[in-house]
Amino acid sequence: CTPYNVESWGNGYFTANEKGHLCVLPEKKEIGPRIDFMEVIKEIQEQGIPFPTVIRFHDILRAQVQLLNITFANTITEHGYQGRFYGVYPIKVNQMREVVEEIIDAGGPFDHGLEAGSKSELLACLAYNDNSNSLTILNGYKDEDYIRLALLGRKLGRKIIIVVESFSEFEMIIRLSKEMQADPLIGIRTKLSVKGRGRWAGSSGDRAKFGLTCSEIVEGVELLQRNGMTNCLKLLHFHVGSQIPDIRIVKEAVTEAGRIYANLAQSGIIIDYFDVGGGLGIDYDGSKSTGDSSRNYTLAEYSADIVSGLQQICDEMNVPHPHIVSESGRYITAHHSCVVTNVINTIHQASNPCKTTVKEDEHVLLGNMRESAEHLKLENCQEIFNDIQQIKEDTIAAFRLGVICLVERAKIETLYWLIINRIDTMLADLDFIPEEMQQIKELKASQYLCNFSVFQSAADTWAISQILPIMPLLRLDEEPSERCSLADITCDSDGKITRFIAKDGYDQSLLLHTLQPDEDYFIGLFLTGAYQDVMGDMHNLFGRLNEVHIYCDDDDPNDFYIEEVIRGTSSQQVLATMQYSPEIMARSIKTQIDLQIKQGTVLPREGVGLIDFYESCLQGYTYLNI
Ligand code: PLP
Repeated sequence: CTPYNVESWGNGYFTANEKGHLCVLPEKKEIGPRIDFMEVIKEIQEQGIPFPTVIRFHDILRAQVQLLNITFANTITEHGYQGRFYGVYPIKVNQMREVVEEIIDAGGPFDHGLEAGSKSELLACLAYNDNSNSLTILNGYKDEDYIRLALLGRKLGRKIIIVVESFSEFEMIIRLSKEMQADPLIGIRTKLSVKGRGRWAGSSGDRAKFGLTCSEIVEGVELLQRNGMTNCLKLLHFHVGSQIPDIRIVKEAVTEAGRIYANLAQSGIIIDYFDVGGGLGIDYDGSKSTGDSSRNYTLAEYSADIVSGLQQICDEMNVPHPHIVSESGRYITAHHSCVVTNVINTIHQASNPCKTTVKEDEHVLLGNMRESAEHLKLENCQEIFNDIQQIKEDTIAAFRLGVICLVERAKIETLYWLIINRIDTMLADLDFIPEEMQQIKELKASQYLCNFSVFQSAADTWAISQILPIMPLLRLDEEPSERCSLADITCDSDGKITRFIAKDGYDQSLLLHTLQPDEDYFIGLFLTGAYQDVMGDMHNLFGRLNEVHIYCDDDDPNDFYIEEVIRGTSSQQVLATMQYSPEIMARSIKTQIDLQIKQGTVLPREGVGLIDFYESCLQGYTYLNI
């Protein structure tokens, strides 16, 4: 699948088949089930589901849950660690009910629980996870209703742990649990001095928004002691930020929090659970580095460092090994979902050249550009490249001042692109390509216009320059030759993707195939299952995407079935969320058309057709119907 580097970021789940189609390997094995993306697309088209569409591979989601639990369990056994592992899934990472249900189902044998950070998330956790052996961890700032809901869960026999994020929550928990006569399970979030790295580093360190300082922990424990509630203190928690790029941060955090745990244990406060939060990173760009979009460790190394780091401290300080809890969300969900969009148009640089015939009194800038074209050869291509950049800049200034006319500017631009194209072909014969000329490939890059909204489907690429792997789903057996960036269909110039994974680093363009006439060329945006899926906004009123949920067919490893289709939002739904009334809108159009019919400007039959058309557009998909 080169040049798309899928072997590096795909975590073993994707490969190309002999037809040049991308396939999913839910068991990460060459011999085993495999799902051909283009077969999935064919079935989606046959069912009349328009693109763009989110495709969810539930088998990947299940595999990730199992991998996390089995890896930790194996590490624990190998090290002779005395506690066990409990995973909890933070539902903010992807709150879709189907995702949460799948994780609970796949995590059932491991007692995989849930984590909530708000009242709404807690309401979902209470209703959707009734496994009383699993944990429900409650983070985030809390009001009385939040705590009452948690205590309601305790009355249902659930292991719900309220994690104290700020000191005032102790008082609320003590008061409300007495009032409701419920025995709370309490956790403490520590504000570690270890500073995270990468985009989410602000979650830790002295200036972090959440967590208790060491003095607040000591005070809090005393408060619980005074109220006879130290036995309620069950969990010690930290979270140093999502997508931790460097394993050293994990080691340091475990050591610092491990000391807090062991000190409390030595003073008689034995805490059952040691919660390492989220942060387990995934390799978005496949570089296995400490860059923002990667990480320099594997899951096995991550679990080994947590288990052995904590074990060492406990043994040294002669205290029991606590159970280990992880709140990994990104790791579980990122790979299972991708956005599939179709290319609907291409915007080529200088695709419509004009005639450049010589005119007697043409401007000197045009003459200079013409001369550059005539004199271009391999030996002077760098000099000519520099000259034409200057002529192009001068041309724009001259045009603004009214010194050259539109036709002259068009001729200069046509000649400019002609020269650039010729230099580009000459570059292959150069032993060394000077730095400034390396931009030629970016200068020449086309834009492939794709039927999606960056703000809805890849918000982090715009908001925080997150890299997402992007590649075509077909023609992988052909060398791609077209350098392109991707533009979306919003009316926003930020609605584009211009940073892509390259062999060694990032490029501003991506190599795709030259489109064939009438070809359906499908592109996938990968690793969108964590955060992207649920954080999109409705810029330009492009709404949520259609979703197709895919499972492997147990009877035929090369087959799959669509278990569920969730229709994306219609225009009337997005309008309603902005307080428009689709009924009133339809009525208004009808009244206006009736008036035209009365005035004789629209025929009655035509008028009825126009009303029907308006109403069908209200009910239709928000994306382009192409
Ligand atoms: N736990 C807490 C408290 C978080 O704030 C987050 C996200 O930042 C997570 C867990 C999930 O982290 P991740 O998706 O990196 O696993």
